[in-house]
Amino acid sequence: MKLVERGSGRPRVAVVGGIHGDEPAGEAIVERLIDRLEVDDGTVQLVVANEPALEAGVRYTEADLNRQFPGDVDADAYETALAARLLAVLDGADAILALHTSHSVPPPFAIYSRLTESVRRTVTGMPIEYVVDAGELRGTTMDSTLPQSVSLEAGRQGSEEAVAFGLEATEAFLRAHGVLADEEPTFTETTIVKGHEEVPKGGGEPHVYYRNFEEIPEGAVFAKDDVYTHRLDRDGVVPVLASEEGYEDIFGIYGAVHGTIDPPGSV
Ligand SMILES: [Zn+2]
Repeated sequence: MKLVERGSGRPRVAVVGGIHGDEPAGEAIVERLIDRLEVDDGTVQLVVANEPALEAGVRYTEADLNRQFPGDVDADAYETALAARLLAVLDGADAILALHTSHSVPPPFAIYSRLTESVRRTVTGMPIEYVVDAGELRGTTMDSTLPQSVSLEAGRQGSEEAVAFGLEATEAFLRAHGVLADEEPTFTETTIVKGHEEVPKGGGEPHVYYRNFEEIPEGAVFAKDDVYTHRLDRDGVVPVLASEEGYEDIFGIYGAVHGTIDPPGSV
């Protein structure tokens, strides 16, 4: 783990890249901030999480870091111990942004598990239209363990667009929390999509027919392979993290629109 701290006092805000070693955008964004960020108020923690996995260009070396929280410092698996070390560094932060990319197509979006005031500020302060409420899904991710944290899916894995968008969104996040004062922060209403269930993948040639946040009509097939044909028996379902090759065990997550998040301070 690489940790660079800038500034002093509160608020303490963290940006974490490289949770997954096959997603180079997060590390690139954190390195750019290390080069040029001037903190106007409070503290910024800049973290590159999984350096061995980044070096090897793999998602993880022994276990998926974003499925290991809260972790265990005494564990044998590298990422299980790393999760506990990361948690110790980030514990008590006022706001945390974890940078990710994926195999699914744009638009970029954010993910949270609990809607705190800090999370509201982060989500509405970034230039994204959708946020996924993952509160009903797995409890071993960073955003389910650290209450002020939000994950950003910045774009397609390995793309320059993901680095450019991720950097723009990260700077907006730093402005929203008052640690970067080069421009006024801007807040906009964001649509909430609640993640309800993972869509399992079996084996053979995978096919996915709907894109992220595109409503799947009742009776239509979202995805199929040699084992599964996932046909919808209800209306109002939108996919999240939809991809054919992105994950070994799932095609994505079924979600549904659940209203909007208003900017901080609005009535
Ligand atoms: Zn990731």
